[in-house]
Amino acid sequence: MRLSRAFLPTLKEIPAEAAIASHKLMLRAGMIRQTSAGIYAWLPLGLRVLKKVEQIVREEQDAAGAQEILMPTIQSADLWRQSGRYDDYGKEMLRIRDRHDREMLFGPTNEEMVTDIFKGYAKSYRDLPRNLYHIQWKFRDEVRPRFGVMRGREFLMKDAYSFDMDVEGATRSYRAMMLAYMRTFQRMGLRAVPMRADTGPIGGNLSHEFIILAPTGESTVFYDAAFEELKLSHADYSYEKPEDLENFFSQVTGLYAATDEMHDEAAWTQVSADRQREGKGIEVGHIFFFGTKYSEKMGLTVAGPDGQPVVPQMGSYGIGVSRLLGAIIEASHDEAGIIWPDAVAPFRCAILNLKPGDLATDALSEKLYAALGGDAVYDDRPDRAGVKFNDADLAGYPWQAIIGPRGAANEKIELKRRATGERAEVSLEEALHRIMAG
Ligand code: ATP
Ligand code: MG
Repeated sequence: MRLSRAFLPTLKEIPAEAAIASHKLMLRAGMIRQTSAGIYAWLPLGLRVLKKVEQIVREEQDAAGAQEILMPTIQSADLWRQSGRYDDYGKEMLRIRDRHDREMLFGPTNEEMVTDIFKGYAKSYRDLPRNLYHIQWKFRDEVRPRFGVMRGREFLMKDAYSFDMDVEGATRSYRAMMLAYMRTFQRMGLRAVPMRADTGPIGGNLSHEFIILAPTGESTVFYDAAFEELKLSHADYSYEKPEDLENFFSQVTGLYAATDEMHDEAAWTQVSADRQREGKGIEVGHIFFFGTKYSEKMGLTVAGPDGQPVVPQMGSYGIGVSRLLGAIIEASHDEAGIIWPDAVAPFRCAILNLKPGDLATDALSEKLYAALGGDAVYDDRPDRAGVKFNDADLAGYPWQAIIGPRGAANEKIELKRRATGERAEVSLEEALHRIMAG
């Protein structure tokens, strides 16, 4: 992306309603634009990060054996009457009437719909287990939308739904999703801690919230330092082996983790003092095992091996994809701006041409830009160097390749790592090598 032609509406004045760092930075860097309370348009820079986050979530869901579908945003009220949630859901549900006066709604979640879809297909035990997910916009008419994309009214969620023949199978599905979540957040450069949660309005038997650690998070969390060193490689834990899933689950749930409301001093003192960690966190995911709650209400049964009808055991698994952008920024920024982890950065590198119009500087900048393919922003604007430095720091690209006439005369690039501020004068080849390495 050439900045001279980019649609990048950065803001100098921070709107008063932006109370936290991530909201301010996303607005200042030109990633999002509010269109109504809690509803945002995604601008080119923000959309690129959203797509990267979404893609990591997708890859890890696929790896865990879940299959992607895409259900609509608009649902019929009748589906929700079957589960009894149409009346229960209250004012958070946006209710709509179509031209024939039929009651519709903008989906806040999809348990009813996915169960109804699955019901049309699953006839026998051979059709299970299955796990279906989609990544789709949700609408919840939150009383107090705030903190930008962290608590929006329209937001992007990944929601997966598992169907199993028995509790044992459902437990495996639950553990597989928990492992997939830990891998997902780790790939994004986040430290995630799963916490036993109460099951709330969805109801049911087992539930964990995933809290990522960020200094500005809303809840206080107490956790074992072992979370910082968890190894989750596929060699250590395979989705194919039930014993691996069991080991993973008992290892992770055996470690102390609690928010301040759930904190248990007696259990905390069992954790050795050098391993006690206290931090702030943000909820980015939530998983539930709720048994036959929806399958029963929606009339889903399949024939067991003996021909007898069985009501499948279900779970649901959510990740706040758009919230994650805010959470990542809360976990990774400084006074100058965002510091994107490599895996989710909108572009790997910003090329700062300090003297557009200077032949050698232009040539070296163009050469690097071409070599980096689509994964760079090229600041070819006629602005002062200071403006370019500030904008690149603000937008948080992991690398800055600073090219000026003096260096360009010797084919040298000043390479800066955003996270550490380290700088080195290197050749084009060396710059490319370092940038592509991460
Ligand atoms: P919260 O307690 O924050 O309202 P929730 O319990 O209502 O969350 P779930 O129904 O479990 O959330 O939804 C799954 C995930 O979707 C949450 O973990 C969160 O990351 C995300 N999410 C929920 N509500 C919002 C929202 N209003 N804006 C952005 N993301 C949200
Ligand atoms: Mg909520």
